[in-house]
Amino acid sequence: MTASIGISLYPDDDTESETLIRDADSAMYRAKEQGRDTFRFYTEEMTTQALAQVALETDLRQALAGGQFVLYYQSQIELATGRLAGCEALIRWQHPALGLVEPGRFIPLAESTGLIVPLSAWVVRTAAVQIKAWQDQGLLTGAAVWVNLSGRDTQDPNLASTIAAICGDVGIGPGGLAVEITETWIMTNPEVAAENIARLQAAGIAVGIDDFGTGYSSLGTLDRLAVREIKIDRSFVARLPADPGGCAIARAVIALGRALGLRVVAEGVETEDQADFLRAEGCAVGQGYLFSRPLPAAEFERYARGLNPIG
Ligand code: C2E
Ligand code: CA
Ligand code: CA
Repeated sequence: MTASIGISLYPDDDTESETLIRDADSAMYRAKEQGRDTFRFYTEEMTTQALAQVALETDLRQALAGGQFVLYYQSQIELATGRLAGCEALIRWQHPALGLVEPGRFIPLAESTGLIVPLSAWVVRTAAVQIKAWQDQGLLTGAAVWVNLSGRDTQDPNLASTIAAICGDVGIGPGGLAVEITETWIMTNPEVAAENIARLQAAGIAVGIDDFGTGYSSLGTLDRLAVREIKIDRSFVARLPADPGGCAIARAVIALGRALGLRVVAEGVETEDQADFLRAEGCAVGQGYLFSRPLPAAEFERYARGLNPIG
């Protein structure tokens, strides 16, 4: 057994017992967040942060109706040729007061409040409409736009039919839209995830495993899943090529993916050295700041045209 302790002080923090206990409680949660089995003193910043979180949650509920979300697109590059091999759609929140908010700050909140369900539907539909526009212009015709799903989605038995219906509705060709699911989410309920992945695959929607190597999936499970792609997690790519452990892991994941006939994508490629290492090891696709940051649709379009001009 371990103990996490939060401490508030009379009379500095407050003079009311109720407030003092609430402050100690906030401090205890901070102790838990920061690794447990430790203690924290209450600070005013803890209240400010808790209030900011509540405000963000209220704003999030209005954001969807208010049209404040936007998708950015980041290229995926075929390492052997430098050609565009697809892209990933990444959500941003244009908050009226806070500016552009990164998904790391609101996706967990959307998940815990249930808002992720309509949010994911919005992401899929928005990406589908964009894909349709690009396909009509001859852009990204042979490649997919990959969208991120969250754990809540992977547990929804209607997932595949919902996505297929949206794609059909918008009128995009098969293979235009694909989805990424994190390894951690797959492993929280492998049976349900496996069924959903099989249904998606049958509906012509490819599935990739995101953040591969961070989620303890067994190789036996991987073999049984109808996935098309694995993404080597950024934390491993960041260690290339200097760190022997990072190199060994990347090399093993690439070999595993290739042996299973999967598309292997390395994410977070920032340097030429990293790209060279991955290319030499036979990794098919790279994604990262070296090639392009995530861009708004219009900018992505300009960039993509520069990579493989039409005609
Ligand atoms: P992810 O799916 O692993 O996405 C990759 C993240 O790495 C993105 O952060 C991307 O901007 C960033 N990145 C790309 N290249 C580089 C690089 O070279 N170096 C570094 N340091 N970072 C790079 P972002 O856009 O902030 O997204 C964070 C996470 O939020 C995503 O991680 C994904 O899990 C989640 N997310 C993003 N969009 C959606 C969405 O539409 N739906 C759901 N459910 N989750 C999303
Ligand atoms: Ca992803
Ligand atoms: Ca990832």
